[in-house]
Amino acid sequence: MKQFKAESKKLLDMMINSIYTNKDIFLRELISNASDAIDKRRFMSLTDSSLSADFKITLKADKDAKTLSVEDNGVGMSKDELETNLGTIASSGTFKFRQDNKSDEEDALIGRFGVGFYSAFMVASKVEVVTRSVSDTQGWKWTSSGVEGYDIKPCEKAEAGTTVTLTVKENDEDCKYADYLSEFKLRSLVKTYSDYIRYPIVMDVTKSRKEDGGEGYTEYTETETLNTMTPIWKKPKKQVKKEDYDAFYRSRFHDWRAPRRVMQVNIEGNVNYTALLFVPDKIPSNYYSKDYEKGLALYSSGVLIKEKCADLLPDWLGFVRGIVDSPDLSLNVSREMLQQDRQLSFIATSLRKKIVDNLKKWLKEERGEYEKFFAEFGEGIKYGVYENFGEKKDELKDLVLLASSTQNKPVLIGEYVSRMKEGQEGIYYACGDSVEKTDALPQLEKLKDEGTEILYCVQRVDEFCLIALNEYGGKKFINALKAESGAEEKSDAGETKELLEKVKTALGGKVNKVRMSSRMKTHAVCLTADGEISLEMERVFKANGQEIKADRVLELNPEHALVKKLAALGDEKAFGDLAATLYDEASLIALGEVDDAAAFVTRINALMK
Ligand code: ADP
Ligand code: MG
Repeated sequence: MKQFKAESKKLLDMMINSIYTNKDIFLRELISNASDAIDKRRFMSLTDSSLSADFKITLKADKDAKTLSVEDNGVGMSKDELETNLGTIASSGTFKFRQDNKSDEEDALIGRFGVGFYSAFMVASKVEVVTRSVSDTQGWKWTSSGVEGYDIKPCEKAEAGTTVTLTVKENDEDCKYADYLSEFKLRSLVKTYSDYIRYPIVMDVTKSRKEDGGEGYTEYTETETLNTMTPIWKKPKKQVKKEDYDAFYRSRFHDWRAPRRVMQVNIEGNVNYTALLFVPDKIPSNYYSKDYEKGLALYSSGVLIKEKCADLLPDWLGFVRGIVDSPDLSLNVSREMLQQDRQLSFIATSLRKKIVDNLKKWLKEERGEYEKFFAEFGEGIKYGVYENFGEKKDELKDLVLLASSTQNKPVLIGEYVSRMKEGQEGIYYACGDSVEKTDALPQLEKLKDEGTEILYCVQRVDEFCLIALNEYGGKKFINALKAESGAEEKSDAGETKELLEKVKTALGGKVNKVRMSSRMKTHAVCLTADGEISLEMERVFKANGQEIKADRVLELNPEHALVKKLAALGDEKAFGDLAATLYDEASLIALGEVDDAAAFVTRINALMK
């Protein structure tokens, strides 16, 4: 007997002890493996017609022997392939994912990603795989009763393909395993999980008909195809209900939530294609990590070419899931050629426009739903605005929602512009950690008091997005946190200039500049930045490990009592302490921290005595 590889053993153990409550999915896994194997053979048969066959997947249940078998006439496996494919789980992505996401609920995890071949052990005490590769005349039998290991022996097999036979476990208080031998159960499992498998899933079913003339019924057996097969995107739109789309999405993309939006695109022209696209309900937890793989499944007339074709979607639409099916794509092209395929890039461009149009329509027709979508995926759209030096900014600018100082809901930039006051210089925006914190910034007091609307940029990408846009409808974006115009002149007058220089010296190089400002009302000071780099950007850079500093400016409110007090202070030590404390105050509000907390506390304590 051979041993399983260590990781496989772990997963196998997990399956046998079936932590997963939904044991049903084992059948989906076995059928999908059978379908994959047929896909491979069918693909080979395009160049070698001797490999073509009447492709199908056959289910057989034997109640007496307590066995269930799933048979396919796919590629089959050689002895070596049996070893590598079923002796270790490393070939499947499932286990790696498990290790990366230990914290996730096991149920949700398995429900989402599928568990592969070993899931058979959730319901079977013994699994037997009889297989013959299309490139071999010898058949091989793999058997295993669990973690102890597995055996591989030569055997007779008339046709190429694979038969997986499960000896179903004895019933226990948790589960009536015998159900998996019932026609009704199997039929419903196929419908739920495997309805769009493109090959017929057949089973001998018992039917009954009324006896001629008599009262009784005669039972007879008939081979029935259990699945619908026709891909949902090939059906006339009118025949497909929302529930059908939802069910398709759930099973095809392993998401237990219904999609947030379904888009169907049918294009007839230079290149013909059908696309069925979905916006998921929630952003995947790994969306902004390297693990996340964007892409759409690409089919040519219902035959899968590639599971995740990344070229079909720009990064900023990476959250879209779905399929694209085009009769114009040829199957016999290598991946490299495919990437350059003119038709493919035509489809990608056309799809991008369709998706953007669809989002605009959504925004117009169901604002509330769109807002929920944007809260989940909007960051990606905003990245899209500034990606490639703003190449797509005009296409995307009307999809962007931002928080506003005057509205209780996110607003479009266009809406802001249409509300702008007569003579307003431009579109004001301010960056901060959250709407609440930004709203409390001293620099905004005056503007808010005058009733001027300010857009609040609270996601890291927001400011970059607005800078990339540069203007909207001829109106420039103005960073409300930057110095007001005319501030320099006001600060240049004799006595004031002297005071400001004194403050700057007292602060010992912490700020590049100190100036008077008329944009505060109740606050004495605020910290801001001159030049291209804002304080917010400095923090984004810092988080990315880059030391790019903003030019710091301390602004003083000349009307404020504390500033007046500062100007009147003769004692050098007292002046230095008050200046430093005011700077710390400004720093706390702008950055949420002070340079030296202990010194700050000492000075505050001294003031309170
Ligand atoms: P996955 O399907 O994600 O690759 P599985 O655990 O379901 O992982 O299957 C492991 C491997 O075993 C498959 O990749 C395939 O190579 C092989 N395999 C499983 N079932 C069959 C089958 N019916 N015919 C041919 N190969 C199969
Ligand atoms: Mg599989």
